[in-house]
Amino acid sequence: MTTPSLRKPRYLIWTVGCQMNKADSERIETFLDRQGCVPARALEEADLVILNTCAVRRSAEEHTEGQLGQLAGFKKRASHLAVAMTGCMVMNDTTQMQRRYPMVDLFFNSLQPEALQQLVNRPLDQPVPMSFDPTPIEMGPEALSPALHQLRSHEVMRYVPVIYGCDEHCTYCIVPSRRGRERSRPVGEIVAHVEELVSEGAREVTLLGQIVDRYGHDLSGRPDLAYLLERLSLISGLERIRFLTSHPRYIDERLIDAMRDLPKVCEYMHLPVQHGDDAVLRRMGRPYKVADYEYLVDHIRARLPNCSVSTDVIVGFCGETDEQFSHLLSLLDRVRFDVVHVAAYSPRPDTPSQRHFADDVPGAVKKERLWRVEALQERIGREINETLVGTQQEILVEGREREGSSRWKGRTRTNKITFFSIQDTTGDNERMDYTGHLVYVQVVQASARALQGRAILPALVEA
Ligand code: SF4
Repeated sequence: MTTPSLRKPRYLIWTVGCQMNKADSERIETFLDRQGCVPARALEEADLVILNTCAVRRSAEEHTEGQLGQLAGFKKRASHLAVAMTGCMVMNDTTQMQRRYPMVDLFFNSLQPEALQQLVNRPLDQPVPMSFDPTPIEMGPEALSPALHQLRSHEVMRYVPVIYGCDEHCTYCIVPSRRGRERSRPVGEIVAHVEELVSEGAREVTLLGQIVDRYGHDLSGRPDLAYLLERLSLISGLERIRFLTSHPRYIDERLIDAMRDLPKVCEYMHLPVQHGDDAVLRRMGRPYKVADYEYLVDHIRARLPNCSVSTDVIVGFCGETDEQFSHLLSLLDRVRFDVVHVAAYSPRPDTPSQRHFADDVPGAVKKERLWRVEALQERIGREINETLVGTQQEILVEGREREGSSRWKGRTRTNKITFFSIQDTTGDNERMDYTGHLVYVQVVQASARALQGRAILPALVEA
């Protein structure tokens, strides 16, 4: 029997934030699994908790601080419990953070999970030593540890970071200071990564970058995202490829051509506009005018008629007047996005907007504007989705709607979540697992956020 001191820690990873954080957490899981650690089923069972944090909004930080408070209380009763923190809340200089969050034993860069080694190889029957020397947070290109590729589960949709960091200067954004300069992963490394994911069961990959359409500019030979899509399209067994987040400034004809010509590349683009007023865009440091953005979306839709487009917008940015806000509503009405993610502005430490502009839109006004965007988009999203009722959509089955449910869920090529029943004329519907199959679903109902439908098999099964 394994003695307690030789046992490797059971771990929990708590992840907040974007897909990039989820991909980083998978990388950390892979590292821990390779060290012989196993996931804990609950906090009570855990020897190591890792918080992968988000700093994009104050509310995300508050969420993590709530979790840290819970962990501080728990550590009083379980002195063997180690807490590690990573992600965008972790700054290069951790001195301040150690003072602020004394319950954290280790701060580390999410791209360097090797830093966890010291917490993995410790005797678990003893309290965590009081002072771990925190690994310096190094954000240069040399900081990238060798890629960790092992798939944890049999999920069919996987996230694959292809470019880290951000070189833009949006005045409200904390990401560049936390995630560093742009660094692209070499094409060969990404191809090998995706091949391995496919061999483990993945059928769809989403390529990730803060500005994914900047991919490759820093690599020798300057491969671009279109080239990467071409290379990944050759991988047999991979059915679908998506990418996000795109910046309007860097979308080019080669990328649009690749989306049109490569059947595995889905007709979906996430293209944050952030605002509908030129003066606000200028203050935000977004390097385009509203008219340029609209021209680009019109052009994309002309070249890719079935392409769905989603966006991000911020309401209540410094100095936003009623009139400027009305320009945002008009833009949303004209462009008619498939999905709009809306956030109320919250100043982030050491960003240009926090340093130079007053956060002068009252909280109640921000809330009301947020609600008005949501209400408008609810109508537009529903109207767009209702046009799909009666059509057949190719869906990649991601799994059951809920555990034990007889219904299934998946997404259209245009990224619309779809719930559906399957009538299988050849098999036992209850026992068949369709996860990872492509099916054609007849859409029977639509709301702003989801489609409902039914599939009849086997006639319509594609894979
Ligand atoms: S593009 Fe702008 S908003 Fe996006 S991560 Fe870079 S600085 Fe932040």
